[in-house]
Amino acid sequence: MPHIVTDNCDGCRFTDCVSNCPVACFHGNDERLFIDPDVCIDCGACIPACPVKAIYDVVVMPKEFTRWIAINAEMVTQLPVISGKQVPKPAAEAQKLRLGF
Ligand code: SF4
Ligand code: SF4
Repeated sequence: MPHIVTDNCDGCRFTDCVSNCPVACFHGNDERLFIDPDVCIDCGACIPACPVKAIYDVVVMPKEFTRWIAINAEMVTQLPVISGKQVPKPAAEAQKLRLGF
C-alpha cells in the first residue's frame, strides 16, 4: 500500500519530501504534490521530511484522509514528475504557521 499526500500540502513547495525520496514518484502542479502509488516503494522517508505532516502511509492514516488515495492516483496521471527540491511558494512559511507547525 502506498503513501499519499493530503491537503496540508497546498501552497507549500518546500519539496523536502522529494529530496528524501529514492524513486521518482512525486508529481506536482504549481500548488502541491501527489504520490504515484505504482512507483512508491513505501520506504517512509518522505514523512519526517514534510514540515506540515501532509504525507501519510495509507495503512495507518486517519480515515478522514481516505479520499486522497484516489485523488493521488488520478492526479499523477495528469501532472509531471517533480524530481528535485524547488523554491517554496511565497506564502509557504505563513501556511506552515497557520497549520500549527
Ligand atoms: S514537503 Fe510536504 S507540504 Fe511540502 S511539497 Fe512535500 S508533501 Fe507537500
Ligand atoms: S514512501 Fe518512500 S518511495 Fe514513497 S513517496 Fe515517500 S519517500 Fe518516496
